[in-house]
Amino acid sequence: MELQGKRVLVIGMGRAGVAAARLLETKGARVTITDKKGREELKEAFGELEGRGIRIETGGHPLELLEDTEIIVASPGVPPNIPLLERAKEKKIPVIGELELASSFLKVPIIAVTGTNGKTTTATLIGEILKKEGKRVAVAGNIGYPLSSCVDKDYELMVSEVSSFQLERIKTFHPFISIMLNIASDHLDRYRDLDEYIGAKKRIFLNQKRGDFAVLNRDDPNCPTLSIEAKKIFFSQEKLAEGVYLREGRVMAKLSGGLQEVIHQEKIGIKGPHNLENALAAIATCLILRVKVASIKKVLKEFKGVPHRMEFVKKVKGVGFVNDSKATNVSSVMKSLASFTEPIILIAGGRDKGLDYSPLRPLVKERVKALILLGEAKEKIAQALSSYKRIKMAEDMKEAVNIAFKLAEEGETVLLSPACSSYDMFQNFEERGETFKEAVRELR
Ligand code: ADP
Repeated sequence: MELQGKRVLVIGMGRAGVAAARLLETKGARVTITDKKGREELKEAFGELEGRGIRIETGGHPLELLEDTEIIVASPGVPPNIPLLERAKEKKIPVIGELELASSFLKVPIIAVTGTNGKTTTATLIGEILKKEGKRVAVAGNIGYPLSSCVDKDYELMVSEVSSFQLERIKTFHPFISIMLNIASDHLDRYRDLDEYIGAKKRIFLNQKRGDFAVLNRDDPNCPTLSIEAKKIFFSQEKLAEGVYLREGRVMAKLSGGLQEVIHQEKIGIKGPHNLENALAAIATCLILRVKVASIKKVLKEFKGVPHRMEFVKKVKGVGFVNDSKATNVSSVMKSLASFTEPIILIAGGRDKGLDYSPLRPLVKERVKALILLGEAKEKIAQALSSYKRIKMAEDMKEAVNIAFKLAEEGETVLLSPACSSYDMFQNFEERGETFKEAVRELR
């Protein structure tokens, strides 16, 4: 992509937008960055950007910005229907995402992970295995760095989690290995329906050719398998003729060579059926990359997961506390509930994303001793579970934790797994998780 002297407008001053602006400037572009938030809220990013001569427009996106714009780089969170982007479309100004921008400058193979849930966990796990194998690998995405900050660095491989929002705005993005973990209802405040959401996710395969690989979940009926040119490698919790699968508690792999045993399921450090799927996907990917089984095995045993995803906090008077703040949709909460055998006191709620909470009903009835709701969505969730009577309302996280602790008995677990985003009460899911952990530490 030739950017020398080009006038580029970056929309969104989050981590991805700021990294994109920085990259654009190093490639000789004349950059303006805009955000709807005010200067005060964004001050952290200001100093460096101004020092680089980047123009900053905060507190809104005036349409005049388009007058001298040749290309737009939109951050993933920016919806396509804001007036600025609608106008840009009329004016035929090309719009790309940060993923497209960054990947066009990357010269190393990219391993891209998508799916409704499990992206960060799987990408991190793959990164750890590759590091154990001695590879110079960067993990980009939510937990690591935006892809833009990995350009021109000394890596030989990139692992990146990619969301549907990012995939909407790719053109040439071309992963060597694409992984589709699962698809469940999410982001129905941005997409018309599940099909539109799947359509965005499927774009991960768009530019793949023969010689590339697609790692796919055989057990998920929503995972597309048609019109993929890359070689398909399936993973499954059931026996397969070829791929990576479970047989009598053992993970077996049959790719191009013979059948081999990788690890016993019980030795895998991350727990729950969903994490088993993440592990199978990571194994398939690393075997495609010809990583030694010994390295895969070692990391799978040691890896304890990523903070805010089913993270064990501590026990207080025999009651376990688990922080799953990143469970921001119904499907991930269902997986989390299914991972425990003891009674659960569930803390849920936050900002609604247009999701239907009623699929939670059977699992909540079966496994949840009490449900404590907080945040904007509490009434909607309570209504969806109306036949379930053991609901308490809380004003804030501290109160929720205190109520949960009062109700819990020794051997039971208090689980924060919200099924909603955090933006009604917190900056992000990390802050929500930290607030939960803080409230747990204060318990006597
Ligand atoms: P993502 O990056 O896709 O948001 P994370 O790895 O951060 O995924 O996990 C987000 C939430 O989803 C956590 O609550 C986690 O326990 C749950 N989760 C992780 N992997 C899966 C999976 N394969 N299927 C369903 N839920 C999952």
